[in-house]
Amino acid sequence: MWNRWFRRPSRLNSQLILKALPWGYLAVAFLSYWGIMKIVLSKTMGYCNGVSRALDLAEQAIEEAKGRELPVYSLGKLIHNRQVCEHFRDEGLEEIAHPEGHDTGVVILRAHGIPDRLRSEFVDAGFTLIDATCSVVKRNLRLIAKYSKTHSILVVGHKGHPESIAMQGVMVEGSVCPSILLCTVEDVRALPKGRSYAVFVQTTFDQQLWTEIRSALVERTQTGSEMFFVNEICPNSINRRQAVIELAEQCDAVVVIGGKESANTRALYTLALEMGKPAWHIEDASHVVPEMYEYATLGVTAGASTPSSLIDEVVQRLQQE
Ligand code: SF4
Repeated sequence: MWNRWFRRPSRLNSQLILKALPWGYLAVAFLSYWGIMKIVLSKTMGYCNGVSRALDLAEQAIEEAKGRELPVYSLGKLIHNRQVCEHFRDEGLEEIAHPEGHDTGVVILRAHGIPDRLRSEFVDAGFTLIDATCSVVKRNLRLIAKYSKTHSILVVGHKGHPESIAMQGVMVEGSVCPSILLCTVEDVRALPKGRSYAVFVQTTFDQQLWTEIRSALVERTQTGSEMFFVNEICPNSINRRQAVIELAEQCDAVVVIGGKESANTRALYTLALEMGKPAWHIEDASHVVPEMYEYATLGVTAGASTPSSLIDEVVQRLQQE
C-alpha cells in the first residue's frame, strides 16, 4: 500500500518512458484512446527531497511508536496533501498543535520546521522528537540565529505558512530573534530606514513575487539601508516552476495537481495562468472536469507534496474520459 501510494516519485513513469524514447526531452506524450487529446507531463513534478525524507521519517516514527506502545503525533499537517495526511492518520498518526492535553509519545516535526519555543515545550513535556525539518530549511534557521546578532532579520514569506512561522520563531539565548515578515512589495515600503538587514525567503515562496520584493529591497539601499540576501528560493521549487513554463509553452491548457494549502502548488497554478493558459488546480482525479477535454494538448504538473499515485490517477482519468 505504502509503495503504491506514497513512495517518492523519484522516477515517475513518464520519466522512465522518456529515458526509453530517443526523441524524449521535455515530457512524454500520451494519446487518449480515441487519439484526440494529447497529454504532456511536466519533466519535473511531485515530491521534493525534503517532503520525501519527511514521509520516510514519519513511517519510521510510526514503527518506533508502535514498538514502544506509544502514541505518535505530527505537529500540524505532515505535508500539504490531504490524501497523504489521511493515509498517515489511518496508520495512527495524530495531528496536534501543542503538547498540552496529549499523552507523551513520539512527535514528528514536519519538513517546514517549527518555532524553537514549541520544540522546547515538547522536549520539556517528555515527548520523543523525530525531526523531519528539511536540511535546507534547517540551514536557514541556523543562519537567522547567526545574523540576528549583527543584522535586523527580514523574513519574506506567506503569512501563516509553517516555514515562515518557524523562521520567525528562532531563539537565541532564550529570546525569540526579532524579525519582520514581508508578504508584499507594499510591506517593503514600510520598513525603517538606515538599518542593516539580513533577508531570508521561504523556500517555496512565489518566485515572481520574490523577484518583485527583492527588487524593492534593493531599491531601499538607496535610502541608507543595507541588504544582505542570505538565501534564495529552493532549487526544487525553481525547477518545478521552470518546467511549468516549458510545459505551458507547448500546451493549450495546464492541470496542476496538489493540495489547496500547498504554497508551491498554488504558485505553479498561478504561473500557468500568467503564461496565458487556461489552468486548473485540482487535488485528485475526481476534480477532472469536461472542459479539460476541449484542448488538443493538455499539460499536467504537480506540486512538491503531491504523491505520484495521484498524478497517475489524474492522467488515467484524463485518458479514459
Ligand atoms: S522545497 Fe526545498 S527546502 Fe522546501 S522542503 Fe522541499 S527540498 Fe526542502
